[in-house]
Amino acid sequence: MDQQPQGSGGGESSFDAISSLDALRAHIGDCHRCPLGDSRTTLVFGVGDPSARLMFVGEAPGRNEDLKGEPFVGAAGALLDELLASIGLVRSEVYIANVLKCRPPGNRDPLSDEMKACTPFLAQQVRLIDPTVIATLGNWATKYMLGTERGITGLRGRLFRVGGRQIVPIFHPAAALYDQTKREVLFEDFKRLRSVRDGSLASGQAALPSTHVPGAWRTAVDGESVAPDGGSGASAADDDDVQQTLF
Ligand code: URA
Repeated sequence: MDQQPQGSGGGESSFDAISSLDALRAHIGDCHRCPLGDSRTTLVFGVGDPSARLMFVGEAPGRNEDLKGEPFVGAAGALLDELLASIGLVRSEVYIANVLKCRPPGNRDPLSDEMKACTPFLAQQVRLIDPTVIATLGNWATKYMLGTERGITGLRGRLFRVGGRQIVPIFHPAAALYDQTKREVLFEDFKRLRSVRDGSLASGQAALPSTHVPGAWRTAVDGESVAPDGGSGASAADDDDVQQTLF
């Protein structure tokens, strides 16, 4: 639980005295640990239930979030709210944060120095909130949480275990705004996410049985990837780059 994320060197790593989200927010302060501190309007720390069982991690604040100081308040946020409502949840029952707490100019991709400076705070948020399930929204959150370079398209639909938490990679809502197919996949994945949250998927069990069902969960536990058909899916070797002890 106290191991730092890969690649966090350059960032901070000791948070022993920080035992609440408020204290962490105070510690971050008027952050200028990376150049995004100079261009942002508002640092976007995160919102929701400080002891949520389910946490969402997105990429970085966009324009609306930068102005309001809250994650996912633009069009992607409206879809996230709709997805939550579809499984009977509201924002205040989950926790929502991002890989980066400040908006990259023009919504460009995060840079590695920005990730190094900022992700230790996300790691500490995860430790403090202590969710059992983390849904990673899109490529950047998934890459960070799983310590992988693999893209979201190949990872969604699978369930990973990292340091005792279940990690569920799903598409970023922004990617589904103008893509009906991705939108449908997202709604399906949210149903499964609800099942994972409710504990209806036991660790190490394939969620769906013997025959291959497109879109069915494949379960990867501690580096072992298990295909529902017992072998035609990804092999354990595919998961060599999955980090096991992030938090
Ligand atoms: N996209 C993200 O990844 N995070 C936000 O907070 C808003 C849009």
